[in-house]
Amino acid sequence: MEGPSDSAELWRLTLQNSPIGMALVGLDGRVLMANRALADMLGYADDELCARGFQELTHPDDLEGDLELFSRARSGEIDTYRVRKRYRHARGHTVWCDLSVAAVRGPDGETLHFISQIIDVTEQREAAARLEAAHAALEREHHTLEAIFETVNVGLLLIGPDGRYERSNRRHRETMSLPFPDGHAGTAGQLGHVYFPDGRTLMGKEDMPSYRAVQGEEFDDYTYWVGNDPLSRAAFSTSARQVRGPAGERLGSVLAYQEITDLMRAMKVKDEFVSSVSHELRTPLTSVLGYLEILCDNDDLPEEVLDQLRVVQRNAVRLRSLLSDLLHVGQTDEGSLELQRVDLDLVALVHDAVEAARAFADASGVTVVTDLPPDGPALHAVVDELRIRQVLDNLLSNAVKYAAPGSSATVSLRATGDGSDGELELAVADTGRGIAPDEVDHVFTRFFRGGEALGQHIPGTGLGLDIVASIVAGHGGTVTVESELGKGSTFRVRLPRDAG
Ligand code: ADP
Repeated sequence: MEGPSDSAELWRLTLQNSPIGMALVGLDGRVLMANRALADMLGYADDELCARGFQELTHPDDLEGDLELFSRARSGEIDTYRVRKRYRHARGHTVWCDLSVAAVRGPDGETLHFISQIIDVTEQREAAARLEAAHAALEREHHTLEAIFETVNVGLLLIGPDGRYERSNRRHRETMSLPFPDGHAGTAGQLGHVYFPDGRTLMGKEDMPSYRAVQGEEFDDYTYWVGNDPLSRAAFSTSARQVRGPAGERLGSVLAYQEITDLMRAMKVKDEFVSSVSHELRTPLTSVLGYLEILCDNDDLPEEVLDQLRVVQRNAVRLRSLLSDLLHVGQTDEGSLELQRVDLDLVALVHDAVEAARAFADASGVTVVTDLPPDGPALHAVVDELRIRQVLDNLLSNAVKYAAPGSSATVSLRATGDGSDGELELAVADTGRGIAPDEVDHVFTRFFRGGEALGQHIPGTGLGLDIVASIVAGHGGTVTVESELGKGSTFRVRLPRDAG
């Protein structure tokens, strides 16, 4: 049997070992008893808290409110109260706590003392403060992004993974009426007045930028025209990126639409100008070349005059080749690159081109060799002879032009795949100066010239590889380049043997 004293001891132990801070507080606010949890919380030894007043332990800014509640409980007006307040730790810092106080009354209702429960919420408060600060920063970020989203002069569109338009900015909404005069249902891939860069061919669903983005594609500078009125139509350049969640899951796609109408019109005017000027210049030049040829064949002229005429002739030939490059560019832009395909032995074509390049290569100190199938049979393909010869001439002349002292160029040809279904791979590899890594992706761009080509005044127009790429594409083939600065470059052309 437990006696009353055992029960008192049990309560004392309970109070002492409670994980929550607990105290008995007298009517004057002095701590009569305090447990270990409270002593630890406020930084005192077990018995140091006794006889201290809670007034002394409370943060001065919270004292007034605490005293008011305390006196209301002492007078019997209230029995309990709860308050979040600050205590002063023995070492001077602040401890935030949730305090619950209950008054203990005697048989006549007189207040005897108070029981206080105190829970340290400093960490919880700090976490809440951090959360609040993070939330405020997020809000600020959100407002800033919102302002940018609406202000930029680029149309922005967010599409959900199901293809539904989720958000768009003012600029995007403004530009929607040209391609979709009858409205848009808000789903990717809706057909409208959207044309490929030629301005004539209507885009199908699979080519619409929004549809491509929903299929998971990412792209840059995808250009097209919108609107069916030639006077008011507009051109756009579009980029798309996928939006992914933390686990890599697709949340949707973002598209940015930049209007480039003026640029496209200016490019067209420039191309038309270049094309008509080259046309106009070619006719008189043909006559100049004809007469030069007659003059150079004239043995009656003194050798000195003949030498000078040959210089004029060489430069006139160069002029003709520049003009024909410019004309070629005009033709590809109009989509009128016509190919005169014939069944041709490319081994013979390689031999001819290498022979023709030899004089220029010798003069530049570059050795040109071929790597053809040994005693090989002819390698036939159905191609446009003049154009494929031009591909080879352009690649070979670059290999010689961008050579390093003592370098060499190797032209190789091999068949891949089966019979006439297969492909021919034509490669021109040089051990020249190579292409800088940040330039290699641009060498097929029209008018692009490398930094060294410009810096060292190596003659050129930046058209050679653009022409190569368009001829190869016209044959249904591909051209790629691998290059290492200081080591050399390899241009690889793959052509279907019979593209039908
Ligand atoms: P161009 O030779 O008239 O400049 P191209 O279109 O033929 O024009 O070539 C574009 C650029 O690519 C050149 O200016 C040069 O920087 C680089 N390039 C082309 N071929 C080679 C090569 N074999 N070695 C090094 N750089 C090359």
